[in-house]
Amino acid sequence: MTELPRIPLAGVIGHPIAHSRSPALHGFWLKRYGIKGHYIPMDVAPADLKQALAVLPKVGFVGVNVTLPHKEAALALADVVTDRAALIGAANTLIFRKDGKIHADNTDGTGFVANLRQHAPKWTAAAGPAAIFGAGGAARAVIAALIELGVPEIRLSNRTRHRAEALRADFGARIQITDWVQAGNMVQGCTLVINTTSLGMAGKADFRVPLDAITPDMVVTDLVYTPLMTPFLIEARDRGAQIVDGLGMLLHQATPGFERWFNHRPEVDDQTRAAVLGL
Ligand code: NAP
Repeated sequence: MTELPRIPLAGVIGHPIAHSRSPALHGFWLKRYGIKGHYIPMDVAPADLKQALAVLPKVGFVGVNVTLPHKEAALALADVVTDRAALIGAANTLIFRKDGKIHADNTDGTGFVANLRQHAPKWTAAAGPAAIFGAGGAARAVIAALIELGVPEIRLSNRTRHRAEALRADFGARIQITDWVQAGNMVQGCTLVINTTSLGMAGKADFRVPLDAITPDMVVTDLVYTPLMTPFLIEARDRGAQIVDGLGMLLHQATPGFERWFNHRPEVDDQTRAAVLGL
């Protein structure tokens, strides 16, 4: 009897996972391109991650996205790690190779840059300093990408100062740290202003740093995308800045994984956004 080809499976592992928009995104692409495959949300507790990663390749999975709280642990469990994932210290995309090895990558930084390129094409890295609020995992990915692009100076402020200092230790003197109580001051003269904190996200505290130094020549972007128009972006828009919401980063960070798992480079366009927003 001839063996039928296996239908490729991929998915996203998190804990919790019900809020994830990734299944809607990959599901839309699979349908759009007529690909036989499935993308499944999986709620995996931290204690079960290792076992899950051992079993999934054996039951037809070609890879997975990993999200909170598994990004660091997934990197540690991988056999092969890209340079950028190692630099960031976290993985968001795993490929289960045919030789049984797990390949880990981090596409958050390239997703961030692709979103800027798409929605603020006139912004150039060399034009001036960038101001970043927050020094968590997402900030690491954004900083790695901005340094690679050649941003001359990165001004960084985080509520917990030592996390910002850890980033400067890893990424070097191009990073200037400002105390959180004075965070608004670092914005003046920047060409790019980024919120990488979870402030402003539905269910989290409000973003309260004064933004009166924002001017119309700046590009302002928020990694938070629930809600899509955060109070941070609304204030920046009211001050005349060009704003870029965080949904595009989510869409673009997903493209390398989809391409590797399903052999088709997906497009990020208005229809993709609408599908993920459930419009
Ligand atoms: P994380 O590692 O937990 O970092 C959270 C950051 O928010 C830290 O800088 C933290 O400061 C700060 N923060 C939290 N509560 C705060 C408060 N009350 N006051 C001041 N600062 C506060 O999380 P992450 O992975 O970096 O993610 C950060 C945000 O980016 C999340 O909203 C996430 O959904 C979003 N994100 C979006 C994308 C996308 O594709 N658009 C990708 C990745 C992440 P401390 O260090 O002082 O705690």
